Formats: sequence, C-alpha cells, structure tokens
Amino acid sequence: MLFFYGTGTSRLLTAPLLTTSCTHCGITGQLSATVFSRYVSLFWTPIFPFGKMSVTVCGHCQQTIAKLKQMPESHRPPVQALQQQARYPLTNFAVLILFGLTLVFIFGVGWFSDPKPVTALSAADQPVVETGVQEGTRYKTIGMTEEGTYLLAEVTRLTADTVYFKTTGLLHGPLTAASATLALRDSVPAGVPISKYPRNLWHFLVQGEGRFRRIN
Ligand SMILES: [Zn+2]
Repeated sequence: MLFFYGTGTSRLLTAPLLTTSCTHCGITGQLSATVFSRYVSLFWTPIFPFGKMSVTVCGHCQQTIAKLKQMPESHRPPVQALQQQARYPLTNFAVLILFGLTLVFIFGVGWFSDPKPVTALSAADQPVVETGVQEGTRYKTIGMTEEGTYLLAEVTRLTADTVYFKTTGLLHGPLTAASATLALRDSVPAGVPISKYPRNLWHFLVQGEGRFRRIN
C-alpha cells in the first residue's frame, strides 16, 4: 500500500508588531508577524505538529523574513513571544484524535451499553438451550391447524448446539407408546429422514411456544 505522508503548515495567528521598526525601510508600526505550525501528515491529513515557524512582513516595503534566525534582534523578542503564545489547533492532531475516538467508540460501546435484559430477547435469540432433551426423546405437536391431528418427533442425535430429529407425517387417532413407535418407523417422510434445529429453537418450541410436548 502506498502511503502519502509529508509535512504541512497551518497558520496559527497573525499579529501586528506595533512598536517594532522595519530594518529595511525604517517605518514603525507596519510590521506584522504570522506564526505557523508544522505538522506531519498522512494522506494530507495532519497527524501531529512538530514545531512552529514565524514570518514577519513589512506592510510598507513588503520585506519578508521567513526565519527567526534571520530576523534582526529587534524583531525576535515580540515574535518569540507570539510564537510561544500560539497554541496548536486540534486539527493538527486530526489523525490521532480520529484514532482515539475510534478506540473510545469501539471500547466505549462495550463499556457503557447495558446488557440486553433477557425478557427483551425474541424467542429466536434465546440463549437458553433445551436441557431436557435427550436422544430418543419423543415429542408430539400441539395445536395443529386440523383438529385432532399431530406430528411426532424423535430426537436421534444431539450436539452442543443442534438437535437432530426425525418426524412423522400428519397423524390422527389415539396415541399410545406402541402407535408412536410404529408411526416413527413407518410414517417418516421419505427424502427428509432427519431434520435439525438449533437447540435454542428447540427450547423455544418446547418451553417457550409449547408446540412440542414430550410424550416419553
Ligand atoms: Zn519595511
């Protein structure tokens, strides 16, 4: 990656040197000093300032002196005072401030945001897993659209987060342990022998919504 780094200047202040005489034309009260900050930049955006520089300009003869060392003795005390007084603007730290704000945002969200109350979670977000479920556990569905009909489900395998199960087709009539065993053997739809749900969805079906009722 190509990084465009460099240096830049920004003007901090300009002030008249009211009591200082121009050494070129001799006029007093026409000098002004401008203090600049110098900063290191990345992609033309300031990272941090590393110093100040001052320029004096005579409004009468236009003589410009761009370095403190080259200024006559009489210019230096007021220019140095102005230079010390000048504060670096926050914009000179733009990249550092952005970086800091980013860190505050990243960590601040974690520090200051309240954890969601459990009751506010929707069923699909329930972190609770169904603990009663075991391999071989059978369930009957409750509240099917057609009165007196139901499906059976039998858990075939469990992992930490997933419930694997097989279901029967739509059944009706009285349910006994024997009829359940027969249905789970003979009524399992072809092509989808095993389904799987996340455990939290299983918990929702059994405990939350209550559409799965355990029968063994
Ligand atoms: Zn002058």
